[in-house]
Amino acid sequence: MTHTIVNPADETVVTTVAAASIEDADAAIARAARAQREWAAVAPADRARVLRRFADAVDGAVEELARIEVRNSGHPIGQARWEAGHVRDVLEYYSAAPERLFGRQIPVAGGLDVTFQEPLGVVGVITPWNFPMTIASWGFAPALAAGNAVVLKPAEWTPLTSLRLAELGLEAGVPEGLFQVIPGRGSVVGERFITNETVRKIVFTGSTEVGKHIMAGCADQVKRVTLELGGKSANIVFADADLEKAAATAPYGVFENAGQDCCARSRILVERSVYERFMELLEPAVQGVRVGDPMDEATEMGPLVSAPHLDRVRSFVPDDADVAFRGAAPAGPGYWFAPTVLTPARDARTAREEIFGPVVSVFPFDDEADAVRFANASEYGLSGSIFTRDLSRGIRVARAVESGNLSVNSHSSVRYATPFGGFKQSGLGRELGPDAPLAFTETKNVFLAVDPATPVE
Ligand code: NAP
Ligand code: MG
Repeated sequence: MTHTIVNPADETVVTTVAAASIEDADAAIARAARAQREWAAVAPADRARVLRRFADAVDGAVEELARIEVRNSGHPIGQARWEAGHVRDVLEYYSAAPERLFGRQIPVAGGLDVTFQEPLGVVGVITPWNFPMTIASWGFAPALAAGNAVVLKPAEWTPLTSLRLAELGLEAGVPEGLFQVIPGRGSVVGERFITNETVRKIVFTGSTEVGKHIMAGCADQVKRVTLELGGKSANIVFADADLEKAAATAPYGVFENAGQDCCARSRILVERSVYERFMELLEPAVQGVRVGDPMDEATEMGPLVSAPHLDRVRSFVPDDADVAFRGAAPAGPGYWFAPTVLTPARDARTAREEIFGPVVSVFPFDDEADAVRFANASEYGLSGSIFTRDLSRGIRVARAVESGNLSVNSHSSVRYATPFGGFKQSGLGRELGPDAPLAFTETKNVFLAVDPATPVE
């Protein structure tokens, strides 16, 4: 079986990729288990060196990886370069981990008590199509650093950068079998990660629906699981904010990657007294987003990833939708959808469900309590922004919003050095940041009895 990869910007065929079978997945997992036993025995400084070389290899291939992502996923070239550079940075950051996976020495009677952070074994990473290589690295880099092997199943639509990363790893000295990319269907390869007992943990990013299915499946073997799921994040703009800045940045808080971003601030909440003014400022900002050829250096937003996804996004904007205004998009081939601003009721489908496209809804609110209540009126809790000049309010609201990643007067979400993940149905566990390698270990406690000293006369 093969899968055809289509360039989302012009619908031309890029290549075909073989889809792995259950037997292929099992064989890869068995190879990974053998490689892991040897890897765990390698001295920490030598594991660190291999990861640094892997980072160097990615650094040398930033342009190549970026161009692959442009053709496979339609990401604008500037964004794709950032993504490849981020993979390098994540590898570099976690290359420090093998020599810093400290245990503890705990005072107890009768001997010496120490803890070890033991690797889990084989880790299965299942990635989505929206940020293929960055999300892959959040799983494989800390997992390898902590002494594990990784089998990675990329999304069927976007396997190309992950396949190249595995080759770069091998060339850089990552042992054969330790990091394998297994393209294939979620219902075949992904499902096998759940049922194969050699896989000790699954790291999944994708839809909440599939995430729940994986979590339930993992219960059978008490398999560890980390989940990064959907979002419907709020961008809360108070009347005292720098309105020009809030309006100029709001499109980039939601339309980046054509809105195919779990952190997209797809609900803009605006204090009622400045709502009209904010909308006046937002319109030119939305129309100013440069949508077009992803290979053009000036492009800020490319096409959606695929024809089925375009249909799904379209279903949220029927002819009678409350469209306030729209930006531009190219005509002709490609899966294009213009940035779209809606003003629906708070309980409308567009206000509640993750659209995962360049569609944002704007709502007026009355006061701080009303804003927090509506921001939290969601089963999701991944990200969010607060625009205000009142520092106390910024901190108060950031603490009150039930969400894993908040930014005040910006739309920042992801930094490799800080933890990332969701509250409520946006996920379970955290990726990135200083503690990520610990999520790929078991804590082992060892007590060594010490004979009491013979009393000295
Ligand atoms: P998805 O179905 O959850 O896919 C994510 C990954 O899981 C893919 O690699 C997929 O493989 C795999 N998968 C599917 N079924 C599986 C199963 N039964 N067992 C194990 N793995 C399985 O997400 P999607 O269909 O691509 O996107 C649907 C919606 O999910 C989006 O519109 C968006 O709302 C949300 N989403 C969120 C994120 C995020 O970053 N939080 C990312 C992507 C999508 P296949 O490629 O073979 O299906
Ligand atoms: Mg799916």
